[in-house]
Amino acid sequence: MDIEKNTTAPESSNFIHDFIDEDIAPGGQFEGMEVHTRFPPEPNGYLHIGHCKALCIDFGTAEKYGGKCNLRMDDTNPAKEDTEYVDAIQEDIHWLGFDWGDRFYYGSDYFEKDYEYAVELIKKGLAYVCELTPEEFKQHRGDIGHPATSPYRDRPIEENLALFERMKNGEIPEGKMTLRAKIDLASGNFNMRDPVIYRIRFIEHHRQGTKWCIFPMYDFAHPIQDALEGITHSLCSLEYEDHRPLYDWVVSNITIPYHKPRQIEFARLHIDHTVLSKRKLRNLVESGIVSGWDDPRMPTLCGLRRRGYTPASIRNFAERIGVAKADSTVEYSFLEHCLREDLNETALRAMVVLRPVMLTITNYPEDKTEEFSVENNPNSEAAGTRSISFSKHVWIEDEDFMEEPIKKYNRLYPGNEVRLKSAYIVKCTGCRKDEDGNVVEVFAEYDPATYGGDAPDGRKGRGTIHWVDCNTAVDCEARLYDNLFTDPEPDAADKDYLSCLNPDSLTVLNNCKAEKSLENAKAPAQYQFLRMGYFCVDSKDSAPGKLVFNRAVALKDGFKK
Ligand code: ATP
Ligand code: MG
Repeated sequence: MDIEKNTTAPESSNFIHDFIDEDIAPGGQFEGMEVHTRFPPEPNGYLHIGHCKALCIDFGTAEKYGGKCNLRMDDTNPAKEDTEYVDAIQEDIHWLGFDWGDRFYYGSDYFEKDYEYAVELIKKGLAYVCELTPEEFKQHRGDIGHPATSPYRDRPIEENLALFERMKNGEIPEGKMTLRAKIDLASGNFNMRDPVIYRIRFIEHHRQGTKWCIFPMYDFAHPIQDALEGITHSLCSLEYEDHRPLYDWVVSNITIPYHKPRQIEFARLHIDHTVLSKRKLRNLVESGIVSGWDDPRMPTLCGLRRRGYTPASIRNFAERIGVAKADSTVEYSFLEHCLREDLNETALRAMVVLRPVMLTITNYPEDKTEEFSVENNPNSEAAGTRSISFSKHVWIEDEDFMEEPIKKYNRLYPGNEVRLKSAYIVKCTGCRKDEDGNVVEVFAEYDPATYGGDAPDGRKGRGTIHWVDCNTAVDCEARLYDNLFTDPEPDAADKDYLSCLNPDSLTVLNNCKAEKSLENAKAPAQYQFLRMGYFCVDSKDSAPGKLVFNRAVALKDGFKK
């Protein structure tokens, strides 16, 4: 896969960079050191646009400071992970244009180290084996005014070591024992009330097999991974803010080879009309509501890619929404706005009629064919020109004719003059209908003096419409998309996201007529179909002889600046 570099908008600063500036300045905790970040996805699903924000922060920060960013599969939780996701995550990150070089790691590769550090804590009297069952654990949690309790807290070190060893050797049943850090049962931060750092799970791990039956908790494993990799800045989303004291406690109480990493939190990205949680997205896939993780309606990176989003548009979006400390929701229309901006510069123009009706030009010779040369992209001379054919019968959109026009209707109706884009000005003379009253053919007369679409007397026609020559038209399918959810906040905690699905999120038009030049179009080609929107070739379902296009975004910009 080609790795596209430098697709970001100009560098900007934010509060994270302010912290880093302090840290690497003279006297700072990382004075003179290389900035080193990491992106730690859990391989239990595909990356979504929210991860993209984190990616841009993690890799973008390393890029800005000329440092490094590791990619680390956070696979310490054995239950849900899969190599399918590991591969997809790498593909998506490369597609965005980020690269981790040879710094690819698995959290599970540190299981041995995690274990050694746990033993170190036990030996220091900073961890103990607790036998409270999950039920009892809840009863002993205490509350704001009352400390937690555990009858096992003062177990002698030797006994803890022996029991932890037995846990490791598979001699203790699941749920019977945990290893807890001995911190502060009265802490106002419940994460510090002697958190569990190891639990027993008799479950096969996707990489470690059955080697382990004890697994470190995220809050214990993560700071160790960061510390062992020499991470300076561990950037993560806001929900980890309350876990930072524990993060700091872990790296302060174990013997690590480098400096202590610093955790900094930023707000998660929320976008309206969608859900950004792997669990919910997986549910949409597994229940068949969407066709897969890469369904073009999904906010996953593979879904957005298939829909026609470009890496540049997504990175630009992530850059422009900024990095804040407080949660907020970004409008989906802003993401669309960023895509339009990019495609307006790069997408080739083409004419495709989505809902065709035939227009017959009655005074045009039956056997004649003409070719018109048209620009591929009016914004880019380098995009060149192409030739499109014209003859007596052309396809037009059925909505571009009205027998009895409504107010302000500027398109074809009897007596009205309209320009066929780049071809001729035609005057509508009427239509033919089937027995049900549906218009099946529209008639017009052309003005031969308006070759190329411009009249010598400056007449322009009241509107300009696109068309496709019936002689050379290529049949194709177009898929139009709308929000997956009707509710603007389906992800809100109190909402049942499955109850606000948009029944009209997909419209399939399978009788579309494309100009001949699109005959061999292949993904990832992107086009602006005149008046109809930006489309890409569907990477999965399109094939020679069976073209399928996805509408990435309509032309009209709904984003209010
Ligand atoms: P999900 O709830 O979708 O499973 P997660 O946070 O569990 O998300 P991880 O794979 O653990 O997903 O995430 C990897 C990184 O991406 C983490 O550092 C996390 O903070 C960040 N991240 C995930 N979702 C978002 C989001 N919506 N906005 C910003 N960062 C995010
Ligand atoms: Mg997570």
